[in-house]
Amino acid sequence: MRYQRPKGTQDILPEEAPRWRFVERTFRDICRRFGYSEIRTPIFEETELFVRSVGEDTDIVSKEMYTFEDKGGRSLTLRAEGTAPAVRAFVEENLQGQDRERLVKLYYIAPIFRQDKPQAGRYRQHHQAGIEAIGSPEPAVDAEVIDLALSFYRALGIEGTRLLINSVGCPVCAPGYVDELRASVADSVEHMCRDCRRRYDTNPLRLLDCKEETCRRVLDNAPTMLDSLCGECAEHFAGLREHLEALDIAYEIDTRIVRGLDYYTKTAFEFRHDALGAQDSIGGGGRYDGLVEQCGGPAIPGVGLGIGIERVLLVREALGLADEEQPREGSFIVTIGDEAWLPGYRLLHDLRGAGVKAEIDYRRRSIRAQMRYADAQGYLNAVILGGDEIARGIATVRDMLSGEQEEVPLEALAEHLKGDAQE
Ligand SMILES: [Zn+2]
Ligand SMILES: [Zn+2]
Repeated sequence: MRYQRPKGTQDILPEEAPRWRFVERTFRDICRRFGYSEIRTPIFEETELFVRSVGEDTDIVSKEMYTFEDKGGRSLTLRAEGTAPAVRAFVEENLQGQDRERLVKLYYIAPIFRQDKPQAGRYRQHHQAGIEAIGSPEPAVDAEVIDLALSFYRALGIEGTRLLINSVGCPVCAPGYVDELRASVADSVEHMCRDCRRRYDTNPLRLLDCKEETCRRVLDNAPTMLDSLCGECAEHFAGLREHLEALDIAYEIDTRIVRGLDYYTKTAFEFRHDALGAQDSIGGGGRYDGLVEQCGGPAIPGVGLGIGIERVLLVREALGLADEEQPREGSFIVTIGDEAWLPGYRLLHDLRGAGVKAEIDYRRRSIRAQMRYADAQGYLNAVILGGDEIARGIATVRDMLSGEQEEVPLEALAEHLKGDAQE
């Protein structure tokens, strides 16, 4: 019996892992600069958390979650999105302390599980780099979240990212708009796709982001949320634009950006990149002023962002951004003859213990084969050990690039090699 990985999942192989590490390292560094601290939440949560926060009628909850019952009869769900677990932890662990207006800034890099149709760059286990800024209603914080994402893309060498912004209003103004929207498409709803016919009843805002051409045409003349914003939401949206402009961040207003989750209020935004073709979203997020309260906490506003790591890697590939050059590092111990084997094996242990990356050839091949292998594997130097070296208490250290050799006393070897280490 041969096994295959589950549909829609991927193996990240050793040759690909450095690309992932580069993206993750860059994200951590940007988060550090912006003052966000890492949070790691469980890979599964109570199902109710996602149902209540993301919304029963969303695609995520209605058809994409990996939900199972554990042996105790509890309904659990693999992390279906990043914000709800972070907000759950924020409330449960009282991360804000006594100061109800303190801004708590969190980031995470975590797998997300959704039983979606697998397509290019979309996986049933995909990975997200996300942030949450909880505690402030200020549009300056929305702009900071957007600025962080754009700084991240730039640090990865990705130019040409487009920012689209919208406001989806609040519980004061959104319901009126939803009624207006419904009324405006009522006559045409029978011509819309099956999903939209369902959304018309359950979640009309999602009509706006349907990709079907016929549905898009129906929506062309629909009213926009921006025309229905209440005073507070309109002021907030103006504040967002003002702060983006203060940072020279270019944006497009797109009234169809609604994001597929119920908890968004006011700001909704998305990043797109033309290098990706039709599936061009590389991240997005928005404000969720009611979510903390919905998750059992006090009425505290928040805003956040999620970036798909697979999508970012696809853009980098499409833009031909070269992998970071892997520096040569470490020592390959080349043993000559049986008498050098055990001393070489011991030296391997000692060097590793002293912090040096070291390897040996367990096949005990010829010197030439060992040297060739050390070179192909990217070692910085070869530590050659034969009967003569052992008798004199030294090793011959050969620089793999220049071919230069020097004799180094065994007791000074670890220090000497550590001095050579790159990175
Ligand atoms: Zn409003
Ligand atoms: Zn549709």
